[in-house]
Amino acid sequence: MEKTPISVLLVEDNEGHAVLTKGALEQEGFKVDVCRTGRDGLDRVFRNDYHVHLIDVRLPDLPGVEVLRRINTIKPGSVSIIVSGHGDEAAAVEAMKLGAYDYLVKSPQMSHLAALPLIIREVLERRQLKDEREQLQTELWEHARLLEERNVELRRANEELKKLDQLKSDFVSMVSHELRTPMATIKEFAGIIVDEIAGPVTNEQREYLGVVKANVDRLSRIVNDLLDMTKIEAGRLMLNKVLVEPQAMVEHVLQSMRPLAEAKAITLEVSLPPAVPSVFADEDKITQILVNLISNAIKFTEKGGRIHLKVSEQPAEVEFSVADTGTGIAPQDLPKLFEKFQQIEGGSAEGGAKGTGLGLAISKRLVELHGGHIRAASELGKGSVFSFALPKHDPDEVFRECLRRGIEQAKRKQGCFSISVVAIPNFQQLKALYGPEETNRLLKQLELMIKEMVRRRQGDIVIRWQQGEMVVILAEVDQTGSKVIAERIKRLTMRHAFVLGGQTLTIPLVTTTATYPDEALTEDELIQITEGRLRQVECRKTRVLVVDDERKVRELLREALEHRGYEVLTSAGGPEALERLKRESVDLILLDLVMPVMDGYEFYHALKEDPRTKEVPVIIVTAKGDRKDRRIGLEPEPYNYIVKPFQLEDLLSKMHDVLFQHRAASL
Ligand code: ADP
Repeated sequence: MEKTPISVLLVEDNEGHAVLTKGALEQEGFKVDVCRTGRDGLDRVFRNDYHVHLIDVRLPDLPGVEVLRRINTIKPGSVSIIVSGHGDEAAAVEAMKLGAYDYLVKSPQMSHLAALPLIIREVLERRQLKDEREQLQTELWEHARLLEERNVELRRANEELKKLDQLKSDFVSMVSHELRTPMATIKEFAGIIVDEIAGPVTNEQREYLGVVKANVDRLSRIVNDLLDMTKIEAGRLMLNKVLVEPQAMVEHVLQSMRPLAEAKAITLEVSLPPAVPSVFADEDKITQILVNLISNAIKFTEKGGRIHLKVSEQPAEVEFSVADTGTGIAPQDLPKLFEKFQQIEGGSAEGGAKGTGLGLAISKRLVELHGGHIRAASELGKGSVFSFALPKHDPDEVFRECLRRGIEQAKRKQGCFSISVVAIPNFQQLKALYGPEETNRLLKQLELMIKEMVRRRQGDIVIRWQQGEMVVILAEVDQTGSKVIAERIKRLTMRHAFVLGGQTLTIPLVTTTATYPDEALTEDELIQITEGRLRQVECRKTRVLVVDDERKVRELLREALEHRGYEVLTSAGGPEALERLKRESVDLILLDLVMPVMDGYEFYHALKEDPRTKEVPVIIVTAKGDRKDRRIGLEPEPYNYIVKPFQLEDLLSKMHDVLFQHRAASL
């Protein structure tokens, strides 16, 4: 294909330069028009299109820069190169500012002509690239504009859909509500007829009325399911979460499902370990899910089959599963199970009432609203397992939620609301001594006991913390009432003998209370008050004074006891220790029996005579063979001692016993 030559307009008044330039360019295949004046040049530009204009800076009629300016007005975007002589560079720079593509300085020997074709080609290439870039930019803008238009359209459509969806929800909700009353009336009157209140009824009529009732019941279920579904989808379903104990709930569910299972001679088995923790959930909703799963299992299991309901504790969840020996579900149908209105073809419900295909969809959404998940596994002809898991409760979340609700309720009823925090002092030491398993068991036992003591009405809740604290939420209890309850908890636990690591112990508790609105008006205030009061009781470390003349023993005991969280003071002898006790109080004294200046007996005696120290409990450390027959003190009280050499654990356990008994006695 023949290429059109590049056309050049040369505006040059110097004839010699013009001829040479034209020749050099034509040799390279350019087509060149020459004119001598600026005006002539402008006239040609006006009439023709050139690829490039070569304009000399100095022309007889107009300055080259002016010619360039006018060309750009006549043909915006055209390509011009300014050609200047030596000393005219300033004009060339100005020309560049005015839109010249390049400039060229003439050399006296005309050697610039050799480079000229190259420069022209390069300038044209640049121009083409610029055009392409502009084109792309324009296209990009166009795309962005179209996209924005589409977006606006989509947003409009989305709004429209939302409105339609809302309309549908409102419609379903309205119709369902409107259906409820006539349905209740039909059922009521069918019942009246069956009961022969309106006159005798034949067996045949009774049978037909049975059909009426069964169908009204089914319609009720459909309406309820539809209402549930629309509420969930509209985000209007509020969970009323409380601490639910699986045992009680499952028993309740089984009670209502047993007759259905028995009618089909289906065995209903249950596995529910007693230690399964409570879940923070809406009891009605979880019951609804369990009823749905079990009634499905009964529906799709033949006579004589088995259903196994299992509740188990997983690391972070509590899992409920319902397994049956029924018809099973084909693998391709499993993924559809939890979608709305899914009734699997061929799934024959043996004698059961026809469902709505909404049960599992609702169950899934309810489980998810609780932060859990549900799944199904099945084998055709063998049976199915439906299981759902709820996250274990976080005591902090439960506590906050209960406080929030308690205050809200108290405000509404213009009543009051109290919390009582019950704590085991020095729980950490107890844990170090007996291990986490034993102390956990102790906490559970305490929790059950406290529950028994306070549970009087709905709304009273006991929450267990791992650090040895329990919070009792007391609905509608005032300040005096909460103090009485806290005292009762303390008194009753004191009477109980707990067994820990094979040892029988009494556990003295500390309690504090706070009441809305008497002492606090917000959740945070309630928490702050109880925490502050507890800390006053708990935060001080137990202080032990070690009295022993052997430095090594003192150091050893100091290290071991400090490691277990005690604060340790030491004295090398009786007199020094007595001096010290005048200034500092301690919770317990570990006393060596044999010491040079003042022996243990004397020291003990002095201690018991001083009213400031006579209550401080003492453990006497004796060696085998030390005489223990001397009376210690004046009262015939039994004294505590430990025989050297002893195991550290024995000493710690002895210290605990003594401290606990002492605290218990002073309560
Ligand atoms: P419906 O109210 O119709 O029972 P569900 O959502 O509870 O609706 O159940 C949907 C479908 O899932 C049922 O129609 C049935 O086909 C299947 N299905 C549910 N549970 C079982 C089960 N235990 N065994 C076999 N099929 C089941």
